[in-house]
Amino acid sequence: MSVRARIASTVRPEVQQIARYHVPDARGLVKLDAMENPYPLPPALGRELADAITHAKINRYPDADASLARAALRNALALPEGVDILLGNGSDELIQIIASTVAHPGGAVVAPEPSFVMYRRTALIANAPFVPVDLRADFSLDVDAMAAAIERHAPSLVFIANPNNPTGNLFAREDLERLIRAAPGLVVVDEAYYAYADASFLPHVLEFPNVVVLRTVSKIGMAGLRLGYVVGHPDWIAEFDKLRPPYNVGALVQEALPVLLRHHEVFDAQAAAIRHERARLSAALRELDLDVFPSQANFVLVRVPDALAAHAALRAARILVKNLDGTHALLGNCLRITVGTPDENDALLDALADHLKGSMK
Ligand code: PMP
Repeated sequence: MSVRARIASTVRPEVQQIARYHVPDARGLVKLDAMENPYPLPPALGRELADAITHAKINRYPDADASLARAALRNALALPEGVDILLGNGSDELIQIIASTVAHPGGAVVAPEPSFVMYRRTALIANAPFVPVDLRADFSLDVDAMAAAIERHAPSLVFIANPNNPTGNLFAREDLERLIRAAPGLVVVDEAYYAYADASFLPHVLEFPNVVVLRTVSKIGMAGLRLGYVVGHPDWIAEFDKLRPPYNVGALVQEALPVLLRHHEVFDAQAAAIRHERARLSAALRELDLDVFPSQANFVLVRVPDALAAHAALRAARILVKNLDGTHALLGNCLRITVGTPDENDALLDALADHLKGSMK
């Protein structure tokens, strides 16, 4: 029997049908496709990091509880009294751990769409039905439709990215609370983009028996570390901890995190610069007569006349953005542009203006 035949008879059919998560090759390109912070570490902080890592005991397994890294997060983030936190290899891993803990064939996963693609994928991993509920055309939550889906499917798990990826908007708190009250299971409020938003649900996490808040350091300047955290009632955290691989946060990351968070002001200043550039970029895109959606994240969603052509023109100018056309009915001809440095944003605006001028001829 060939390998192909053995795979066909062995691998779960729903896994055979999907492709792996695709990460485009960005070598040599201005990378505005993945919501990274464009600013590198200041050299002095890099040296401090190198010093800290020198002491890592890499012959030993890391601290399974990641105590120092967790304490550093608690200090840096002024977490509410009474919560506990669990760390993951990126919030991607925590999404899988949480879904594996609560979702199952009889306990669906509900999420708005368009939203972060891993919610759908993680339902598949947990062998749970996935129930998407379309956002309204202005990308606000369709609370009635969500509430109806919750009543009909009694899901184990509801994911809400807030601000939402890829639309960039922040949902109203009263909408979130209505869904949380309606949900019979757990609601994960995913705040990957909290640093760029005007509001957070974190202070309210213990006001409900069924909410946890998910975060990551990826979007604030540490995507390479791979570190996410979930904040919530200690009893929820203890359940997730049962399915966490024991050494999921490596020794180098555990050494690095306290050093980096001690200099949180560096990342705060970068986030402020990115918010400033977000406003400038959005205004300049509007000047190009494009539909620009209001963003509370470090990216901007924009509708262009022809997304495929605009994406290709930018690619030819060595700029990589995300083309969302075809991924959801609400995202026709939409590009998602991560806010870069002022120079990168200027390069993007120039290339896009050239393309639009050319295509009007
Ligand atoms: N949640 C949302 C809403 C995201 O957009 C992303 C990254 N695209 C993640 C979670 C995952 O982030 P990470 O695994 O880097 O922590």
